[in-house]
Amino acid sequence: MYGLGIIKGLGITIKHFANTYVEDFKQGIKRYTAEDRFTARQGLEAQGLFTVQYPEEKIAVPERFRYIPFLVVNDDDHPDAPGQPWCTSCGICSKVCPPQCIWIVRSTDPETGRPKPEPQEFYIDIDICMNCGYCAEFCPFDAIKMDHDYEISSYDRTSAHIYDLQKLTKPLSYWRTIAPTRAEEERTAREAKEAAKAEKAKK
Ligand code: SF4
Ligand code: SF4
Repeated sequence: MYGLGIIKGLGITIKHFANTYVEDFKQGIKRYTAEDRFTARQGLEAQGLFTVQYPEEKIAVPERFRYIPFLVVNDDDHPDAPGQPWCTSCGICSKVCPPQCIWIVRSTDPETGRPKPEPQEFYIDIDICMNCGYCAEFCPFDAIKMDHDYEISSYDRTSAHIYDLQKLTKPLSYWRTIAPTRAEEERTAREAKEAAKAEKAKK
């Protein structure tokens, strides 16, 4: 019958609308105040409307969510190299970046004048970045990652949106917090690579 799809769609909407009040009645004010209820409201079993009261409430982003990249450094309690950047300033990320919004200046050793494998300056224009994640995919050193922080709007359209080393740098523990599965996979892969290298060197 012509229009049956529209009627079915409206029926689903009305069902969700009514279920919201049923759930409100069953759970009371806790439905909107308790932390675990918020997670349930966003889950697969949720009933009723799913509107989020942003910015008081925020939808949890999935692990593979990607926004502006950040640069990984060792944590401050690292036994050998606290705060050491992982980036070697190889420049691969800036080459593969489709809109070309990464600028890197490599460090030089003040004594020898030779290039040092770490960045002296690193900039990303976050207005141009299209969050594609290519930089993170192609980095051979796992040094650049896609962040989950999407609340970065500001009234300044110029310098505030050019992220420098200070703004881009975050410790490894942060990456482990936002992407535990990926971080663990990467750690295992790195260890396997190191072991293979050591075995080869032994031979
Ligand atoms: S972030 Fe990775 S790809 Fe980019 S310059 Fe540093 S080491 Fe190279
Ligand atoms: S996410 Fe994409 S656009 Fe943004 S800096 Fe990385 S490669 Fe460039």
